[in-house]
Amino acid sequence: MQAQPATHTGSYYAASANPQPERPPLQGDVTADVCVIGAGFAGISTALHLAEKGLKVVVLEAVKIAFGASGRNGGQIINGYSRDYDTILGRYGQDTAKALLNMSFEGGDIIRERIQKYNIQCDHKTGSFFAAFTPAQMKFLERRREVWGSAGHDQTEMYDDKKVREVSDTPLYIGGMLDKRGGHIHPMNLVLGQAAALESLGGKIYELSRVTHIDKGAKPVAHTAQGKVTANFIVVCGNAYIGESVPELPHRFMSVSSQIVTTEVLGAELTDKMMPSGFCLEDCNYLLDYYRITGDKRLLFGGGVVYTGAEPSDIIRRLEPHVLKTFPFLKGKKFDFAWSGNFALTLTRMPHIGRLSDTVYFIQGDSGHGVTTTHLLGRLTAEAINQQARRWDVFANMPNYPFPGGRLFRVPLTMMGAWYYGMKEKLGL
Ligand SMILES: Cc1cc2nc3c(=O)[nH]c(=O)nc-3n(C[C@H](O)[C@H](O)[C@H](O)COP(=O)(O)OP(=O)(O)OC[C@H]3O[C@@H](n4cnc5c(N)ncnc54)[C@H](O)[C@@H]3O)c2cc1C
Repeated sequence: MQAQPATHTGSYYAASANPQPERPPLQGDVTADVCVIGAGFAGISTALHLAEKGLKVVVLEAVKIAFGASGRNGGQIINGYSRDYDTILGRYGQDTAKALLNMSFEGGDIIRERIQKYNIQCDHKTGSFFAAFTPAQMKFLERRREVWGSAGHDQTEMYDDKKVREVSDTPLYIGGMLDKRGGHIHPMNLVLGQAAALESLGGKIYELSRVTHIDKGAKPVAHTAQGKVTANFIVVCGNAYIGESVPELPHRFMSVSSQIVTTEVLGAELTDKMMPSGFCLEDCNYLLDYYRITGDKRLLFGGGVVYTGAEPSDIIRRLEPHVLKTFPFLKGKKFDFAWSGNFALTLTRMPHIGRLSDTVYFIQGDSGHGVTTTHLLGRLTAEAINQQARRWDVFANMPNYPFPGGRLFRVPLTMMGAWYYGMKEKLGL
């Protein structure tokens, strides 16, 4: 078994996190209404929804709050899922597709409500932009706009090749779509702010408390090295970092890593020129680049995936060419931070929630776009635990399939898929 790290990876977010109290490991036996495993967006979001309903919640985190993807991501509040509406419609039919569509803007709303309600300091800015390289990608975005409009989301706008320069001062794109209900945040500070809100409502969070195994049953029990929590419900939110502690879960997704670099502080004059409107941007390629300006005026730029989930040793060397292709005038600027994080990719590219027993729930499988969906699924899981399972069932009843090829061949098969979509993009198809 790999040695367990004791603290965060060396990210920009960890270096600029808001001050935190000590949260010691679990010692001895504790009881709760609900025990949540994992203190990322999904875990803390679920726990806060439950605490707001008056339940006694205990969160067990293997390392530190936001140790996983939630403290390492691009910070982009992206509405919708990692699959487009037409694919979802073809796969699941009209009723499920419509229900999923109608829920797909709720996660972003929850984030904004919580920032406001709990006065969370997380550099929140409005506006997410999807940038297109090709006419086919513009068409894809126009269709997305039409679909979102049909669900009542009309705060979008198409940009042409001139207007797109207001978003990003680069000749790379031919246009794109602005989502004014999107935006960006310092993700670690968003989780930490929600954790503080949870604690203010009586919730308890234990760090350095990896759950080694759980006993299912009428009163499920989560065991750590030095203690255990007995609860009425357990919610497992370990996502790509769950390892083998809940063996039923990891074969349902592939742990995939993505990498991010952050430049030195560039100053407002330069960053206002680079991204005048202050929106975050992700491009429409299958293997996409995503970037934004941080609160202290750095460029935070992510891209690439490693399908084995491994952390490359040469992150700056991999990403610098993408940064310089976008903004050649940054040549010579230093990169202060480079890190990698893992997300859980499902075969369907849709999030995966369910129950392992009547009392053990799980949330996982955000497939690379989880800032909003984790907040939505946290609410739905809290509702389900409160015997309001109707909306939760729309997700839970969607079939989820193991990757073809099993654990041995799923990586090469997925890489072939990525190569195929990459070729399609190069051909402008
Ligand atoms: C580099 C990168 C960039 C991304 N960029 C974006 C973006 O810009 N926009 C977007 O929408 N999505 C993005 N994503 C995806 C998004 O970050 C994730 O969907 C989301 O953070 C997942 O949240 P989570 O709570 O499910 O998992 P995580 O944040 O990974 O949290 C899981 C937690 O569970 C803990 N844990 C695991 N096992 C145990 C155990 N046995 N006992 C106790 N604790 C345990 C882990 O330590 C971890 O803290 C990105 C992901 C990555 C990796």
